[in-house]
Amino acid sequence: MSTSASPRRAVVVGAGMVGLSTAWFLRRAGLDVTVLEQDRVAAGSSWGNAGWLTPPITTPLPEPAILRSGVRALVSPASPVYVPLRPDLDLLRFLLGFVRHSTGRAWRRAMAAYVPLNRRALEAFDVLAAAGVAEPTVPTGDFLACYRRPGQRRDLLEEFAAIRAAGQPVEAELLDGAQLRALAPALSTEVTAGIRLAGTRFIDPPRYMLALADTVVAAGVELREGVRVLAVDGGTETRPALVRTRPTQPVPGGSETEAPARRDGEEILRADVVVLATGAWLGELARPFGVRMVVQAGRGYSFTVPVDPMPTMPLYFPIQRVACTPLGGRYRVAGMMEFRRPGDPLDPRRIKAIVDATRPLLAGDLDDRVDEWVGSRPVTPDGLPLIGPTRSPRVVAAGGHGMWGITLGPLTGQLVADLVTGGQVPAELWPFDPLR
Ligand SMILES: Cc1cc2nc3c(=O)[nH]c(=O)nc-3n(C[C@H](O)[C@H](O)[C@H](O)COP(=O)(O)OP(=O)(O)OC[C@H]3O[C@@H](n4cnc5c(N)ncnc54)[C@H](O)[C@@H]3O)c2cc1C
Repeated sequence: MSTSASPRRAVVVGAGMVGLSTAWFLRRAGLDVTVLEQDRVAAGSSWGNAGWLTPPITTPLPEPAILRSGVRALVSPASPVYVPLRPDLDLLRFLLGFVRHSTGRAWRRAMAAYVPLNRRALEAFDVLAAAGVAEPTVPTGDFLACYRRPGQRRDLLEEFAAIRAAGQPVEAELLDGAQLRALAPALSTEVTAGIRLAGTRFIDPPRYMLALADTVVAAGVELREGVRVLAVDGGTETRPALVRTRPTQPVPGGSETEAPARRDGEEILRADVVVLATGAWLGELARPFGVRMVVQAGRGYSFTVPVDPMPTMPLYFPIQRVACTPLGGRYRVAGMMEFRRPGDPLDPRRIKAIVDATRPLLAGDLDDRVDEWVGSRPVTPDGLPLIGPTRSPRVVAAGGHGMWGITLGPLTGQLVADLVTGGQVPAELWPFDPLR
């Protein structure tokens, strides 16, 4: 499959990690690039996430252990995975597909697709750093998975063995409670066992995303926030694609006479290539181009709290499915997988569930919460993102990274730019064909 010949002008829809990275790599390749964002930079999942850059454990989500936790766990509001009792048709399709892919065989096939991406994921961050992204990626040899009992480590250790069998190195070491507390004194004495994982980094997602946006703009990309894409016409081999937009917020600075027309007015942009990087909203614009796979919002929650002494590394509580990351002076605590619509309001019961799960394990003031946030992971039933050309050679999908769009966002952008400028789908992207 090839894309349009010698594209000069690209429109990227969505200013999350995937969209902004793609815009930067396309610009580096010499294209004129406009990014359209219905809200503001990182308004989707790229803001309140845990910021882990963890290629060693970047794996497909559907796996047999998820099903072992049982259907009852899925419908309890306090469970780390939550499905509403009255799912809609798309959600049913998603769940059935997800269950079908939660086998050892499907996981191994999907994992084999992740390995080549994981190998290069951190290098792509280094390219962005060299381009001037002012916010660092922080290397840590002390990423810690923490448990109440040593036996609870079994699932993760089995997963490590399966990851290694897929050809990806995982360097890990078993620690006891005292060793863990020597590294992270804020862990409570209820934590008696853990695993230290090497080869990871982390970012402060809000700061990183704003720094990335600055770099993208400095490189000459036009970034337009508050502009929603209503529809895309994929054009033909000889006719450019058309992108129909409408402002979602008043345009400041317009004169009395021109402001109302611009405020309500739709606009049509022409582009040789359009990249859809709309995260959990991918289906809306991609479906007319033959992308049938459901992209379901897997909503996660986060907040920040003071922790004393402040851990210098991310902490992971796998049984509780809680992920923590240092962000400046506060600690971000994140978790939950709630299969609801992306625009639904924040449900305080999920925040409470994360607090209740974390409080016994960490010496933080979990009542002094700020930045309570909900955002939508773009989750696919087979656990693989959708990256590549669609039925229109001018429309490229880049989304559906589920749990791992931060880790894999920059490399995705790099590979999409290779695809757009080279006219051929790079081999690493073959398993992620959006038309599968
Ligand atoms: C709690 C939580 C913790 C996480 N932790 C990690 C982690 O530690 N490491 C990791 O790798 N990943 C993590 N993730 C996953 C990661 O956040 C996502 O995979 C990633 O942010 C997806 O990026 P994206 O650019 O595809 O989508 P988004 O960031 O959601 O961006 C899509 C953008 O498109 C815009 N948009 C949508 N439709 C339109 C339209 N029609 N017109 C214009 N704009 C539109 C949206 O407003 C949005 O800004 C976590 C997620 C959650 C929820």
